[in-house]
Amino acid sequence: MQRGKKLVIVSHCVLNQNCVVKPYGKNQNFFYNFIKNFLLNNYGFIQLPCPELEILGLKRWGHVKDQLEYSNYKENCKKLLFPIINQIEDYLKNDYKISGVYGIQGSPSCGINKTCRGDWEGEASSYKSLEEISNKVKLVDEKGIFMEIFEELLKEKEIYLKFYDIDDWSENID
Ligand code: SF4
Repeated sequence: MQRGKKLVIVSHCVLNQNCVVKPYGKNQNFFYNFIKNFLLNNYGFIQLPCPELEILGLKRWGHVKDQLEYSNYKENCKKLLFPIINQIEDYLKNDYKISGVYGIQGSPSCGINKTCRGDWEGEASSYKSLEEISNKVKLVDEKGIFMEIFEELLKEKEIYLKFYDIDDWSENID
């Protein structure tokens, strides 16, 4: 049987940079070594949905975590995650191995060790300058809101996975 029974869970944009907020999309090749390593080792990929694309669309502005921590965004994140949680439960029940979850450092939704926070709201024109806006943004040591909810939902099912930022990946943590 060729089936590897091994999986890795990735943020949507690891396999599809087209969903990233402008101007941060990278050449897809940026993830080549990461993807190649798992493919060569016969892993399958569970691609998480992109919550910002699903809820805010392709033309969204960049956000900070503070702007996404409202009930409706969180409820929609949960709805997107429930089918994934069900898949994970089924894989684990059938003795598949899940090596971890890889997110995107600094993302307000998918950051793992770092996310971005800032006191932002309203029209950009209500600030003195773009510098005043960017000066309010800080990287903080916590998960983005989507990954925070993902981890909580997994814990409710007593599923404990390892979480990494993809920047921290190296071949020795596959
Ligand atoms: S929300 Fe997550 S999946 Fe979507 S672009 Fe941002 S980091 Fe990638």
